[in-house]
Amino acid sequence: MALPAGQVLVADELLWPDGRVMACAAAPMVAGALSSVGHPVVTGPVRLLSDGLDSDFQAAVARTAVSACASGQAPGAESPGGVAVLVAASDVRLVSVAEGAVDSWAGVMRPRTVLLASPRSFCAGVERAIDVVEALLEQEHAPGGLRVFVRKQIVHNTHVIADLTERGAVFVEELDEVPAGSLVVFSAHGVSPQVRAEAERRDLTVVDATCPLVTKVHAEARRFADRGSSIVLIGHAGHEEVEGTYGEAPDATVVVGGPQDIAGLDLPDPSNITYLTQTTLAVDETRATIAALKERFPQARGPGSEDICYATTNRQNALSAITAQADLVLVLGSDNSSNSVRLVELARTAGTRAHLIEDPSRIRPDWLRDVATIGLSAGASAPPALVQETLSALAGLGPLAVQEDNTTTEDTYFAPPAAVRKNR
Ligand code: SF4
Repeated sequence: MALPAGQVLVADELLWPDGRVMACAAAPMVAGALSSVGHPVVTGPVRLLSDGLDSDFQAAVARTAVSACASGQAPGAESPGGVAVLVAASDVRLVSVAEGAVDSWAGVMRPRTVLLASPRSFCAGVERAIDVVEALLEQEHAPGGLRVFVRKQIVHNTHVIADLTERGAVFVEELDEVPAGSLVVFSAHGVSPQVRAEAERRDLTVVDATCPLVTKVHAEARRFADRGSSIVLIGHAGHEEVEGTYGEAPDATVVVGGPQDIAGLDLPDPSNITYLTQTTLAVDETRATIAALKERFPQARGPGSEDICYATTNRQNALSAITAQADLVLVLGSDNSSNSVRLVELARTAGTRAHLIEDPSRIRPDWLRDVATIGLSAGASAPPALVQETLSALAGLGPLAVQEDNTTTEDTYFAPPAAVRKNR
C-alpha cells in the first residue's frame, strides 16, 4: 500500500513475493502505542519485494526499519513463520520513530502464558440491557418504528456505545435532549423516581433496561425509608447507580464511600439505621465499611441478601485466584466501569502490577518487559470479543499458552422487559 507523507505504517500482514502471507498480530498494540504519543498511524498489509519493502516507501527508510524487524528472521527470508513487527515511514523525519517502535516491541518478544480468569466479561444484566437496545433498533427500522434514545451510557463500555451508536442509537445525558413523545431507554444502572417523573412529564415512552439486581436495591431503599430508617448507602458518589438509588429516598439517605466516612456520620436515631450498597463494589472493602458502621452503630441492619451482585463477586473471586501467579494483570474495561476498576484495584492490592485497558491498542511495551505470565480478565460490561482480540495481539509477540481458570459457572439470565418481549 502507498503511505501518505507524514504517517507511520504498521504492518498487519507481510505479503511475500511468492504469495505467502504472514500475519503481524501485534499490530493493534504497536499502532496504539504510536498513536498515543501523537503519531498519525495507518495499519495495513506490506508487500515484500526480493530486496526489501514495497517500492512505495523510500528504500533507505524502509530498510532501516525492516532490519530491526523482530521476526526471528528478516522479511524476505525463506519462511514466513514466527512473529513480526514491522513499522515503516515514508517521511525521513519519522525514521527514528519507526525504528524506536520496532526496537521497543522486539525487546518484549518471548514465549508467555496467559492465565484467563473465568467468569469474566458480560454479566446477565449487561446482556439484557444491550439486547433491549438492539431489539428496539430492529423495530426502529420497521415501518412506523420510533428513533431509539438512550439516557446515559446503556452500560459503561466505550466499544458497546460506539457499536450501538453506529447502528442508530442516540445516547443523551439528560431527558431534555429527547424530543417530547419519543422513545427512551433507561440504562442498566437505573434511574431515580425524579427521572421517571420527568419522562412522564415529557410524554416519553420508556423502556427500562435497569438491571433487576439494581431494581432490588431500589426496592430495599423504599422499604427502609417507609420504616423511618436512616439509610447509609455505601457507594461512589456521582455514579449513576448511586444517584438512582439515592433518589428513592433522598431525605433519609447519606452516601458513604468507605470506612473513613463513618466517623463523620450524623444520624438522628442510632437504633434505626440500615445500610445498602452499590452492586459493583469491592467485596473486601465493603466488608470493612460495614464493620466500621456496625462498630459505631451496633444496631445498624443490612438488606436480607448482599447487594453486591453475583457478577461482581464472581469476577473478583476469579481474578483473585490467578493474581498471585501473574507478573502482570490486564483488565479489559472502560475507566467509568466501576466493577472493572475494582478488578484492577484488587490485583494491585494483592501486590501485582495491573492496568485497565479498553482494548489491546492500550497495551504498552514497557509493561511487558520481564513479564512471562499475564493474568487477563474483563469487567462485566466489556465485550467477550475484546478478550479474544487481546489474546491474538499478545500472540503476535511470541508463542502464547492460554490457561483458563474457572472458579464458578454462571447461568444467571434475566428476561427482557415486557415492552421488548411483546414486540419480538
Ligand atoms: Fe446487574 Fe451486576 Fe451486571 Fe451490574 S454488574 S448489570 S448489577 S449483574
